[in-house]
Amino acid sequence: MGRLCFRGPRGVPLDHVRFLLRLAELELIDRERRMVERRIRAAHFSAVKSFDTFDFAAIASLNKPLVLELARCEYLVARENIIALGNSGTGKTHACLALGLMACKRGFSVAFFTAASLVHQLMEARDQRRLLKLQAQLASVKLLIIDELGYVRLSQTGAELLFEIFSQRHECGSTIVTSNLPFEEWTSVFGSQRLTGALLDRLTHHVHILELNGESYRLRQSQARRRRDPRPSNEIAEAVDPETGEITPAS
Ligand code: ADP
Ligand code: MG
Repeated sequence: MGRLCFRGPRGVPLDHVRFLLRLAELELIDRERRMVERRIRAAHFSAVKSFDTFDFAAIASLNKPLVLELARCEYLVARENIIALGNSGTGKTHACLALGLMACKRGFSVAFFTAASLVHQLMEARDQRRLLKLQAQLASVKLLIIDELGYVRLSQTGAELLFEIFSQRHECGSTIVTSNLPFEEWTSVFGSQRLTGALLDRLTHHVHILELNGESYRLRQSQARRRRDPRPSNEIAEAVDPETGEITPAS
């Protein structure tokens, strides 16, 4: 006796319809995965890091509920900015890379730069007469991440070029900035109080501030390693605080 077979529209056996539907679903999932991978490559992240490996307990000053809310990416729809402030090694870059990754997964275009490399690329583009093109690219990306503002003092031209980027993106797209310097000290990076004031005015118009103040995660890890491996001090590389240059003696 032939197998009972229900038929869908146009007499196609339902088993086949389900099979084709599943195939189409798998194709869609695969296409989405490839698009996420493409966005991650285009972002030029310095590393791929996620919140799965971020230990919130290690940084008490960080507002975890706010970070988890930001990870849902609604700030990108509202075109709001994020500024992460704190001393070196406290997870600012890790947190902004994780936010960038979430944005890629949610379908937003992302570009990642350190402040120094962005300024370098803007100056190079200006010299090669392709500044407008680069500015247009930077203005159109949904999330621009500028890491490490504050380590390098900018030239006047560099500061003005960076200011223009903030200005062009104002209320058009979200920007994440990380800095080791509190706002009061940003003038030392941009060289001009007037420019810094105008820049902060734009950047902080719609902003979420993340505070990461505490002991360097790297330093703490190397101290913990040393406690687990108590060899004579001359056999163990000393830990250097990247901020102060202070060397922690091996104990
Ligand atoms: P910052 O940008 O503030 O100088 P990083 O994000 O570069 O600090 O962190 C330094 C190193 O420590 C990185 O390898 C980072 O992944 C790790 N790290 C920092 N904070 C945490 C944390 N809370 N949980 C897990 N890893 C962390
Ligand atoms: Mg960093």
